[in-house]
Amino acid sequence: MKKSVRGIIIFFLCFMQIAFLLSPALPVSAKGTTVRVGYYPDDAFFYKDKSGVYQGLYAEYLYSISQYTGWEYDFVSGSQENLLHMLSDGSIDMLLNVSYTPENRAFCYFPDYPITMQQLCVVVRPDDPGFPDSSLSNLNGKKVGSIIGTYSESVLLELINKKKLDCTYSPSTSYKNLMYAFTAGSVDAIVLNVSDVDESQKILSIIDISELYLAVSKLKPGILQNLNKAMRDLYLNYPYYNSDLYKKYVDSDGKNYIFSMEELKYIEEAAPIRVVYLKKNNPFEYFDRQRKCGGITGAYLSAIAAKSNLSFTYIAADNYKEALDMIEEDKADIIASIYSDKVFANTYSLHITDQYYNMGLSIIRKNSTSLNLHTPVTVSLIKNVAGMDSYLLKLYPDMKFEYYDTIEECVASVRKEDTEAAILPSEMSNIFLQQHYYSDIVSSSGLPMTIPISMGVNKNMPKELLSILNQTLKSMSAAEKEAILLENIVQTTYTVSLKSMLSANFIPLLIILLSLTLLVIAAIIFRNKIRYNKVLTVSQTDQLTGILNKTSAENHIRRYLKSKPHEMCALYIIDIDHFKSVNDTYGHKEGDAIIQDTARVIYETFTERDIIGRMGGDEFIVLQTRCSSLQVIKNKAEKLIGNLRRSYPISASESYLLTASVGVMVYNNGNYSYEEMVEKADKLLYQVKKAGRNDYKLSI
Ligand code: GH3
Ligand code: MG
Repeated sequence: MKKSVRGIIIFFLCFMQIAFLLSPALPVSAKGTTVRVGYYPDDAFFYKDKSGVYQGLYAEYLYSISQYTGWEYDFVSGSQENLLHMLSDGSIDMLLNVSYTPENRAFCYFPDYPITMQQLCVVVRPDDPGFPDSSLSNLNGKKVGSIIGTYSESVLLELINKKKLDCTYSPSTSYKNLMYAFTAGSVDAIVLNVSDVDESQKILSIIDISELYLAVSKLKPGILQNLNKAMRDLYLNYPYYNSDLYKKYVDSDGKNYIFSMEELKYIEEAAPIRVVYLKKNNPFEYFDRQRKCGGITGAYLSAIAAKSNLSFTYIAADNYKEALDMIEEDKADIIASIYSDKVFANTYSLHITDQYYNMGLSIIRKNSTSLNLHTPVTVSLIKNVAGMDSYLLKLYPDMKFEYYDTIEECVASVRKEDTEAAILPSEMSNIFLQQHYYSDIVSSSGLPMTIPISMGVNKNMPKELLSILNQTLKSMSAAEKEAILLENIVQTTYTVSLKSMLSANFIPLLIILLSLTLLVIAAIIFRNKIRYNKVLTVSQTDQLTGILNKTSAENHIRRYLKSKPHEMCALYIIDIDHFKSVNDTYGHKEGDAIIQDTARVIYETFTERDIIGRMGGDEFIVLQTRCSSLQVIKNKAEKLIGNLRRSYPISASESYLLTASVGVMVYNNGNYSYEEMVEKADKLLYQVKKAGRNDYKLSI
């Protein structure tokens, strides 16, 4: 930051503190408040389109925030210096695009979460022979451009100073002028945001990575409070909101990861990174003799090592507390899996990486009881699942917890009625329940939410480590991630059952009747493999909504109908009305949010005994189980239609009337096969659609 700017900031800091002391505490009323937001012109993430509408990543983000706060915005554009003044004296409330620097921290509030990340790089012309390699010393004797009064400029000037580069700085007054100077050849290199780089430019080196915030004036603490609350709620509802938004606006495909000189130097010189993981946390991580850290996180770490050249050493901890203590005492540099919450991580001196996994949750309870999670229920949790309790408390503030070492103990506590339910990661509990059949407990198809998981990096580590991990994680394709998941869910179950096979005394037989035993092992492996494929399907929830996906919903329903052929059940096919027009009018993102909300409504209408899944698109399937009469089914269908007919807030001033149509087939005494039921329910749904929608049709 330039010295003059710093002087002005210090002056305003003093002014602002006096003003704050003199001013009465201003209560900020959430609804209907107009918030003044400052932005810089030429911001790739925020601009006015031809019809005067604000667009871009920040516009979308602010709009999402307003859904929670009811805020309306007035936008003010200006130079950095002007906007910083205005933020200090309270004539604007918030400012977009502020880096978390010590100078900035002194004069404005930073919310708990950043909006996005910014990587600055030095860009050159691809065919310029003056840059034979990516060394920054190639800038010596060259002209380097950037925009005057911006953060990029301060980064560039600091770089020139720090690296003692002998180059000429050539400031431009706007982005347009900068690009003009570069294309015309009057400068040799320029500083750009990585997201603005196109094919006609070559990145020489990344020179700065920072998180960008929506900073709040220190005169407006109420706004900060509301903003933090809104961000928290937003991430609870959409854990991937930030990274999805970033992906939408910054096309990172093909850009891959480019390490800066500092990062490359760090990789070359760093001692092996000490990773602490949990010994028995299948399938996420566990002690595996060959690979040291097995499981999903182990596979991610191996992939990171291969891509980045970082090397890892592994330390196995018995429980989560032990792992966190190791970080605290500087005995470990990374914790392999942790709940992706910045605030949570902060309390443990950790930085968190981008989330790499989304953990589904299942509820287990005795089948003779009913459950309402919004009352003070006591729930069993496994001790070492990172941050699960704090996550659940945000959703169910009255919930009480009992902690156990293993899934087995959690399930036992429910069976003994020491606790009312257990909430367990679906992947783990599916594996366990698959192997132990209990007739007195039921496992629900999963809560309509997931816990985002990241790695945690010790705050004492150089910042290069976090950015190397993030870049490498980001560069992993969906196929790579899926392969890790498939391999590990199958392998984990395999390890478990091999163990149980050994404990069943196959070893003596192995010695005596080698050939026969080999045959038996082959048969067991074969049988288990078939079973594991099933486990795999069961564990796959729908990523968007957290409820079961099509295949697993079908499997659950088939299995249920087969096991209870004489029970009266009802199969519902539910489809949102005119959903395409929502997508067309408000965009795919809003469409997704409506699908998620519809899943929530359906989930809340039915009970945990029922099986709920998403068939794809805007279509859902439900099996209502244990229906005592036809009237019960009719009442439920009425209630469902009523709940699905709702006014959905699109913005503070606009809402959309959503309805859905439903086909219901009643299953009684094994009258139809699953396929017949679905086909008939589909036909009924079609009839409802034809007759005008927003209704249900039922048949026996
Ligand atoms: P109808 O009342 O007859 O059901 O009309 P409709 O417009 O809802 O038609 P239909 O159910 O056939 O349309 C479903 C649309 O859902 C088609 C597709 O564009 C959209 N879609 C499918 N998957 C997704 C998704 O994951 N997200 C979003 N936003 N849209 C999806
Ligand atoms: Mg539809």
